[in-house]
Amino acid sequence: MGLSQRITTLTGGGSDGWDVFIKARRMIAQGISVTELTIGEHDIRTAAPILQDMHRSAMAGHTGYAMVPGTDTLRDVVARRTAERTGVPTTRDNVLITPGGQAALFAAHAAVCDPGDTALYLDPYYATYPGTLRGVSAIPKAIRTRAEDAFQPRATNIDAAANGARSLLINSPNNPTGTVYSRATLQGIAEVCQRHDLWLISDEVYDTQVWDGAHLSPRALPGMSARTLVVGSMSKSHAMTGARCGWIVGPAEVITHLITFATHTTYGVPGFIQDASVFALNQGTDFEDEIAEPFRRRRALAQAVLAGQNTIGLIPAQGAMYLMLDIRATGLSGDAFANALLDQHQIAVMPGESFGASAAGHVRVAMTIDDRAFEAALRTLCTFADGLAGA
Ligand code: PMP
Repeated sequence: MGLSQRITTLTGGGSDGWDVFIKARRMIAQGISVTELTIGEHDIRTAAPILQDMHRSAMAGHTGYAMVPGTDTLRDVVARRTAERTGVPTTRDNVLITPGGQAALFAAHAAVCDPGDTALYLDPYYATYPGTLRGVSAIPKAIRTRAEDAFQPRATNIDAAANGARSLLINSPNNPTGTVYSRATLQGIAEVCQRHDLWLISDEVYDTQVWDGAHLSPRALPGMSARTLVVGSMSKSHAMTGARCGWIVGPAEVITHLITFATHTTYGVPGFIQDASVFALNQGTDFEDEIAEPFRRRRALAQAVLAGQNTIGLIPAQGAMYLMLDIRATGLSGDAFANALLDQHQIAVMPGESFGASAAGHVRVAMTIDDRAFEAALRTLCTFADGLAGA
């Protein structure tokens, strides 16, 4: 029996970029001690009070079908938080609760792209992006950014690729580069979207993790709220990756259609997860800062370690839980470097190539292990790179 093109070609063929990660996991299964700096998950678990609230809600009976668009309370809390952070008037009618940011990315593209439509995204990209776009039968089109620009996209490059396209997906603070888009970058993007009548899908799941400058949501730029769908999530801001709770914020008319889409796909998010998310969001920004603090600290540690050497370049880590390291001076590709580092020093990092051609000759380091082990691993990585470069 044949399967659909959509499902069989979802990853686009070839390596999916997870080879080093899988090799590291295999080594760990064999009992080898590996320092894991690959995936973007906190080294802390969801805070106990949030779990207690989840338990309370479930015990109180919130275990049946929940409202498909999300509970009124959670939609209100997300709307208020969005309005407070961006200044854009936002109500419950602008919010759909989804099973995580990933489901929000899929639903947002399903809402704006027909099969065969061109959906733009920026390279380097979060690993699932092209597959998500293929998942709605859109044609993914990557636009390169440059290490020399600290991976800030250039509006002229987007403009040159935008003819006939339907949507543009952006992500700031960015995974994998750690770049936070400047106001000028976002204004340039907004102008291109208006000129080419593009939907903008803005993935802001790292909006609480900004180390340099400030997060700006492009939905707040003039003329943009009618064409922007913002993707948010509890995963990164509240260390709730496993809870699968996220959202889309956008025009009420789009949300109405997305509620129908949710009725026929996910049928909502468990009520006790939504209640715990309300509880978590009501802890306010101090709690969010507390969750972000380890990454802020480790980013400072990394800056100090890297200041003592000349082989590796650090893309200015402005936000999110990753460092993008330029290892081109070693003469190796990101892939060869990551494999050799794993084989020789049992340290696992992601090859830049896993996130697109623009990150070739780089590796991504997740700042997701305890400070001392993180600093030691970075020092080993630097010595290793120096050795390769003959420094
Ligand atoms: N967007 C980006 C940029 C991410 O890094 C992730 C998770 N790593 C997601 C979306 C999806 O997160 P979740 O589904 O857990 O909300």
